[in-house]
Amino acid sequence: AAPDTSTLAELCAATDTKFILAMFVDLRGKPCAKLVPVEAVDELATEGVGFAGYAVGAIGQEPKDPDLIAIPDVSSFLPIPFIKEGLAVVQCDPHVEGKPWPFAPRNILKTLIAQTADAGFEPWVGAEVEYFLLKRADDGSLVTADSADDSDQPCYDVRGLTRMYEHLTAVSTAMNQLGWSNYANDHEDGNGQFEQNFKYADALTTADRVVTLRYLLSAMAAEKGMIATFMPKPFADRTGSGLHFHLSLTKGGEPVFPQVSEDDRGLGLSDTAYGFIGGILEHAPALQAVIAPTVNSYKRTGATATRSGASWAPRKATYGGNDRTHYIRVPDDQRVELRGGDGSANPYLAAAALLGAGLDGIKRSLDPGAVGGAPSHIAELPLTLLHAVEAFEADAVVAGALDAALPQDWPEDQGKVSTYFSSLKREEFFNWHAAVSPWEVDQYLTAF
Ligand code: GLU
Ligand code: MG
Ligand code: MG
Repeated sequence: AAPDTSTLAELCAATDTKFILAMFVDLRGKPCAKLVPVEAVDELATEGVGFAGYAVGAIGQEPKDPDLIAIPDVSSFLPIPFIKEGLAVVQCDPHVEGKPWPFAPRNILKTLIAQTADAGFEPWVGAEVEYFLLKRADDGSLVTADSADDSDQPCYDVRGLTRMYEHLTAVSTAMNQLGWSNYANDHEDGNGQFEQNFKYADALTTADRVVTLRYLLSAMAAEKGMIATFMPKPFADRTGSGLHFHLSLTKGGEPVFPQVSEDDRGLGLSDTAYGFIGGILEHAPALQAVIAPTVNSYKRTGATATRSGASWAPRKATYGGNDRTHYIRVPDDQRVELRGGDGSANPYLAAAALLGAGLDGIKRSLDPGAVGGAPSHIAELPLTLLHAVEAFEADAVVAGALDAALPQDWPEDQGKVSTYFSSLKREEFFNWHAAVSPWEVDQYLTAF
């Protein structure tokens, strides 16, 4: 299709838009916006809208710094009248003093997409958003919104889908109105857990959609008195919420993952695909800091399998065919599914880091080893956020992906994105560690 050259004002007029949410996320994935009336749309389009960067959150700014100016990317404009009549959302690129801000996740992903193009490839990305629908009980505790949902085998339960019909179908209809091609909705493996799928697209579009979908799901759930949560492991004894990425590369419109000659490993993949997989596995420990970036993330992966030994989240950095126990699943010869990421991941940073790792593997022709395994030196995934951050700090490729948008002449005393990111994550780990949990009191109160 020919690119739409309409201005923001024209798009608003054509869709009866009265207000625009000018939106972007910080490094943690926190969605921020200003609500701009259509009367100010020309100013928004040409000058953007200003934010106090320090108040935004994790975006590398101090209170004294000049404003962060969010400039709308017109191609991401979406009317969302099903949230509020006359409302639209547009994703923005944060700028500071006229230049793209290198700490802004969308700018970072754009840079990695450009690097992928320099290497000769176009990346395609699909993302699977899993989430729980919860509510507060009278005593303030969090419970499953569907009180009838207490099955031992809730996955794909047709009755659970029927009970949540109004919510699920409202979201599905919204996704299709937005042109995202919702193709399935299911009850996931945890009580109260759902997944609503949309078709893959270019990497930036998919990352924008993950951010927008989280916002839509939260708003639509809240409308019905529910809380939609993407936290990786809200309940210790239930399956966690992943954010799986499906990645493929094309060259001149042709897929490059299918094999060109004989593939003696039997997955039907090309050397380029094996190099890509090899890169992801090589960098898996460091990648976890980006794609599983919270202390809670490490309760989903690792040693916390729930029922019948299956949490469906990877424990080791291995790859295999159509087998959901691996870090990388290869469902067919077109794409690879990366199962390490979770609902707390910032989709821009996650896609950027995964592309950086995969490209490194292609460049270095990294061998992922035999199907079902991994090069032995990296088979273990980090057990905690701190382990992941240490791996991240030691990995120039993954850290480099986060620093991709820093200009050549970036002053050293301004610090790098990767250093800032790892210090935020260290602080998060030690803040968590500082809290005394009920488990500890239980364990130690009268133990000695
Ligand atoms: N919920 C699982 C996870 O945390 C994934 C289940 C599935 O394969 O859809 O990754
Ligand atoms: Mg799923
Ligand atoms: Mg999946």
